[in-house]
Amino acid sequence: MSEPAAATSSGKQEDLNLYRIVSRQFDKAAATLRFPSFLLRQIKVCNNVYEFNFPVRVGKQMRMFRGWRAEHSHHKKPLKGGIRFAEHVDADEVMALASLMTYKCALVNVPFGGSKGAVKVNPYVTPVDVLQRITRRYTAELCWKRFIGPGINVPAPDMGTGEREMAWMADTYDGLNHGGIDNFACVTGKPVSQGGITGRSEATGRGVVYGVREALSFPGDLKRHGLTPGLEGKKIVIQGYGNVGWHAARIFVREEGAKIIAIGEWNGFLVNRDGIDLEALEEYRLNSGSMLHFPGAETVTDNPSAVLEVECDVLVPAAVQNVITQANVERLRCKIVAEAANGPTTPGAEAYLLKNDVLVIPDIYLNSGGVTVSYFEWAKNLGHMRFGRMGKRLSANKEHAMLDHIEQATGRKPDPAVAEALGRGADEVELVRSGLEGTMVDAYREIRTLSRRKRQIKDLRTGAYVVAIKKIAAAYDKLGIFP
Ligand code: GLU
Repeated sequence: MSEPAAATSSGKQEDLNLYRIVSRQFDKAAATLRFPSFLLRQIKVCNNVYEFNFPVRVGKQMRMFRGWRAEHSHHKKPLKGGIRFAEHVDADEVMALASLMTYKCALVNVPFGGSKGAVKVNPYVTPVDVLQRITRRYTAELCWKRFIGPGINVPAPDMGTGEREMAWMADTYDGLNHGGIDNFACVTGKPVSQGGITGRSEATGRGVVYGVREALSFPGDLKRHGLTPGLEGKKIVIQGYGNVGWHAARIFVREEGAKIIAIGEWNGFLVNRDGIDLEALEEYRLNSGSMLHFPGAETVTDNPSAVLEVECDVLVPAAVQNVITQANVERLRCKIVAEAANGPTTPGAEAYLLKNDVLVIPDIYLNSGGVTVSYFEWAKNLGHMRFGRMGKRLSANKEHAMLDHIEQATGRKPDPAVAEALGRGADEVELVRSGLEGTMVDAYREIRTLSRRKRQIKDLRTGAYVVAIKKIAAAYDKLGIFP
């Protein structure tokens, strides 16, 4: 929710309106660039917002619901961004999130403009049949106003929505656009059986892990933050255990050898400084319906947001915006804030963190894994073929031939595990993960290189915005004027 202001520990009011916060972040970066002010204004402004009310039957009665779709930038088409179902959402929040989509797509070279949508509804207390009617009617409203389409605007999941809602959206769009061969590219994040791509649901969380790992790979950058290179053994706190937080936690532990020492939800958190056993926790959560009181950790319920204050190496806010503010930032005890959520840190809190040498890895970079894999899904839908289908067998055969040749030449059999891995050829999920990893690594290096070259850039967020703004300016610049 974009509340206007909150009291800080010093008693001063802090502006919590996300649209104004994003605007301030943009201005800080824009001030380091010598671009004409009209161009910067053109990039910054949210092009249009469609706000609408629509009727849906709930039980025996009709109820009105309010929806939005904001289109921030048309410098590339289609536009892209998730649909949020939340009780406390408003136009400013949707516009802010649409702006963030533009910058993150530009940053990671995903060729889309930014957009975002929302419906004011609490999905956690709304019956499934009502949610289905809301989603289908919302999609129809977007169709009638041409705010959705494979070449126009392509929604995806966000807070409160997931594969199920995307399948309903695709089906509704398909029904209203009879015979459209590319209809299923109208939305991403669909179930694999409905034209989705393997690896999309874990993508944002996986991107978070790749991004933090990359930040921890430059020893010279880490000393002032009191960090050593690598993720192995690092203590991590996750705030928000939804799709993003859960996948990130799992991959941090399983693939990088890190420890999850605390996990927070809206109603409480778990702490275990030796590391929480995530598999046991998953089983417990499936059986009990909640992670609280898991026997493998201490449960704290009196102050759920105090999870942010647990001492750790990496703090991952993976829930909503405005959780790290001037009111609590002085109590944080982490070396990295890894922004998996959109907009979790206010500018005032960020200034404090930077002054105290905490590394802030910004949302527009760190959570861009979701839209990156959405791009792969969209391209797959337009190509009408699963990635890897044409080449998998060919590369497996070639790799087998090479292994046979090596065996004959050396008289030694290759290690069976290596032979198995080589002789398989890449399938869709491997291609998706490698595409995501390459994207996250390249984008980090681009931000880092630019930030080291430009003296005025003192933090990763400003660096990330500058990279993004330059690319958007170049897309508007048909004459090649702007460097
Ligand atoms: N809602 C996600 C985000 O904020 C994903 C958007 C997409 O895949 O289009 O990045």
